[in-house]
Parts: sequence; structure tokens; C-alpha cells
Amino acid sequence: MATIKEVLFAAAHRVDRFEARLLLAHLLHCRREYFITHDNDEVTPEIAVRFESLLSRREAGEPVPYIVGEQEFFSRTFKVREGVLIPRPDTETLIETVLQEAANHRATSLLDMGTGSGCIAITLALEMPELAVTATDFSEKALAVAKDNAETLKARICFHQGSWYKALPNDARFDIIVSNPPYIHPQDHHLANLRYEPITALTDGVDGLKDLRAIVADAPNHLNANGLLAMEHGWDQGEAVRNLFDESLWYDVRTIKDLGDNDRVTLGRLKS
Ligand code: GLN
Repeated sequence: MATIKEVLFAAAHRVDRFEARLLLAHLLHCRREYFITHDNDEVTPEIAVRFESLLSRREAGEPVPYIVGEQEFFSRTFKVREGVLIPRPDTETLIETVLQEAANHRATSLLDMGTGSGCIAITLALEMPELAVTATDFSEKALAVAKDNAETLKARICFHQGSWYKALPNDARFDIIVSNPPYIHPQDHHLANLRYEPITALTDGVDGLKDLRAIVADAPNHLNANGLLAMEHGWDQGEAVRNLFDESLWYDVRTIKDLGDNDRVTLGRLKS
């Protein structure tokens, strides 16, 4: 029988070393750190066969989070499967922005539209337990994953199915609205590498601004006075998104950069 060290060494020619460790750790129900002290342990033939199959899936392009069924986000583990966008580190910028804003302006309610795995709504609900959090998604499949994550992580969220504000009662109003909508331009060549994720979570199929525009346009009907709207967007969309905020309705409109120093989140406050 081969040892863990040998199996990982052989896999390193085929997939990223870090990813190979994640896949083997998943099969052995252990943490990656376990291998540091146990790399001379033997791998059973059964695990070796299953590892081979996971490596082939990864080589074919399937993202590791779908293979192992989970992804870390803001130090918590979220279940993911095909049908929901895989949480990205970029989106932690949206979380940090909202946490900072909420520390300076009292808020009691928050809406997350297009919640997907629920990572934004659930993280914010757990970080700010005093907040009443509502989350929507058009996709029933995504809502099932988000509800499952909310239950596992013990976050209280009110879920609604539907497209953007149509998911909500007409008179629903919030202190904060957040969203990470589809914003990739349909012609962006990056989409080809994202073929395992739901296309409707990645692009609006028009110009990458269609859903961002729709969210800003109707936000005044669903925000309380001085309410905050904060949306994630692409690295090259900062100026275009700021321009969606009509100066007669909004103030304090600005764009926040992510850890890679790219424009990532634009926010504004509704005039009273
Ligand atoms: N940030 C994601 C990516 O570029 C896209 C997510 C989105 O469109 N909301 O892969």
C-alpha cells in the first residue's frame, strides 16, 4: 500500500498540491493539517481508488468546492453544490464594508438579494445578531442550499423566492440592502472557465450592469431613510455603478476596493 506522502506526491503532477490535499482530507474525514504528522500512514486501496476518481473530476475542470461539497467563507464552512455560486474571497469585502457601515449607523433590518448559498445573509446575521435578516433567490435550488446552511450555522433568516424585489411584499423596507448579483459581461472570456457554476448567477446575459441597474433603480422603494445599498461588482465597473446612483436620491456614494486593490463594492445612502 502507498503512503499518504506517496499518494500526494503522485497527485501533484495532475492537480494543484493544495487542492490534492483538500481532496484527500475530504475522503479521510480529516483536516489537511493531519497530513503533516501522518504522511507515512498507508492509504487503503479503497481510498486510493476513490481519490483517483476525485482527481479525474478535478482534472476535467470541476471546482474543488463542488467535489467536496463545501467552501470556507469568512471563517465558516458553507455547503455548496451545483446550482449555487461558490463563495469567493472577493465577497468578504462586501461583508467587511457592511459591518463597518453598520458600526457607524444603527440598523435593525437587512435584505440580501440573490443569496445563492446564503453566505452573505448568514454571515451578516451571525456577525450582527440584533439584525433581522431577509434573503431572496430566484432559484428554488439555491434557496434549498441557503436554508440548509442557515440551519447548520444556526442563523435566523427569513427566505423568499422570486426575482429581485418581486420576491418581497410591496411595502417591505429595510435599513440595509446588499447583493452580489450576476455582473460578468456575457462576452467576458472568464465565463468559459466557470462552466460548472450556474450561468444565471454569473452574467445577466446583457451588459453585466442590467441586474445592478435594476437593484439600484427600485432600492428607494424598499429602503428606509438614510438606508444603505451595497453591491458587489466587477473590477472595471466601479464608475459605471456609481453612475447608476441618481444624485438627487442618494448621498455618500463611493466604491471600496478588495484585497487585490480592485474596485469591488459600491455603496450609497438614500436621502431622507
Ligand atoms: N466574482 C465572480 C467571478 O468573477 C462573479 C460573481 C458574480 O457575477 N456575482 O468569478
